[in-house]
Order: sequence, then structure tokens, then C-alpha cells
Amino acid sequence: MLATYSSFSTGASAALNVWTNTRVLINYMIMAHDQEHNEHPYNDLPSEPALRVKALETILTRKGLIDPSALDKIIDTYQNKIGPRNGAHVVAKAWSDSNFRAALLDDANPLLAKLGYYGRQGEHIVAVENTDEIHNMVVCTLCSCYPWPLLGIPPSWYKSDAYRSRTVREPRKVLSEFGVRLPEYTTVRVWDSTAEIRYLVIPKCPTGIDGMAEEALIKLITRDSMIGCGLVKSL
Ligand code: FE
Repeated sequence: MLATYSSFSTGASAALNVWTNTRVLINYMIMAHDQEHNEHPYNDLPSEPALRVKALETILTRKGLIDPSALDKIIDTYQNKIGPRNGAHVVAKAWSDSNFRAALLDDANPLLAKLGYYGRQGEHIVAVENTDEIHNMVVCTLCSCYPWPLLGIPPSWYKSDAYRSRTVREPRKVLSEFGVRLPEYTTVRVWDSTAEIRYLVIPKCPTGIDGMAEEALIKLITRDSMIGCGLVKSL
């Protein structure tokens, strides 16, 4: 992949590949971090990710294709400034405001733009709502498409072959491995993300939230519940 740089003649192609390789690098950095803190059956890490990170960063820096300080800023942005809290903010608003919820389900994008949750990897987002009858679950069977502005960087298990293939074949079994067991009468609907459409699951609202402040609601909403692989925390 890196060896092909010398053949690029246009700035656009080079810029695209720098971005692609930077994404790979950022993903490896986050994956290495995830592995340290979260052993998960769906982990699909390459061997020795820290070495791969170092190798990629060194080559891209030596070629003058990336600025390490800019990379640090990107990592900081996605780890600390953008993340599941944005998605949880949207869900909390949907739980507490029925007009907002209806508009979100109708067309999420104008509302998300107004809240400032838009940008790369989040150009077109569809909100789907979990109810007693329907449980929505999101996967990207092709790669790892995910609503970055709302949920941050995808967890490593989301990118694993096992999650991507099994979620469409046996979603209930996958859910049970995440500790989610649903009644038989609940239909599980799996949405396949693409680069054009990404999904935000609005988890089922727990009972007894009347009068609760938005901040308190946000604390109940987990990242996995907004992918459809988890439930919200109980009150
Ligand atoms: Fe994808």
C-alpha cells in the first residue's frame, strides 16, 4: 500500500491515500488502546498492533505525508471530544421530547446538523427506534461504516469478521453473547451500514425517567445500546 505513493501524479489521489493511511493508523492506535482495556470475544486485532502503528507513523512522517502533531490532535479529537456522549445526548433529547423524537425518526440529518453532530463518516444518518416489538441492531458487513460524529471511533469488535458475518446470520445468538436476551415476540431487525447511510439506534426508554435531567439520562445510555448490541443501564 505504501509503496504505491511514488506513482501518484495528482494531488487528489495522494490526498485520498494519505487520509486512508491516516485512518488506518488512527484505527490501529485506538484498537491497541481498546485491547488493553477491553478483552472481547469479537476482537480481531492484527498481531502486534503497536509495532504496526509505529511503522506506519514513521514511514508517513519520513515521507512528509503527515505531521505527527496534527495526528495527535486528530486522535485527541476522536478520543476525547467526539464520542458516544454525542449520540447519548441525541437519545436523551428523543426520550424527553416527543416532537424531537418524531422529527429525528423522520429525518435525523437537519437536527443533527443543528446540534453540530455532522462531518466525515456521518454524512447521512438514519435513526431507528427500539420498541417492545422491534429491536434494531447495526453492522457493516462490508467493512466498518459507523456514525463517527455520534459514536466516535468504532470498537474493534465492530470491525471483526465474526461480528460482521454472524450478526446477519444469527443476530439473537450474537445479542445473547453481549448479554442481551429478548422476548420471542420481539423482532430483531439488522441494518447494514454503508458509506452512504449509517444508523443510530434509539434504545428503548426505561420507565420512570419523568422529571430526570438530560445529564442524568445521558449517563444511562451506553455506546453498545446505540449500536443495538446492548441495553441501557437500569435506573
Ligand atoms: Fe463499512
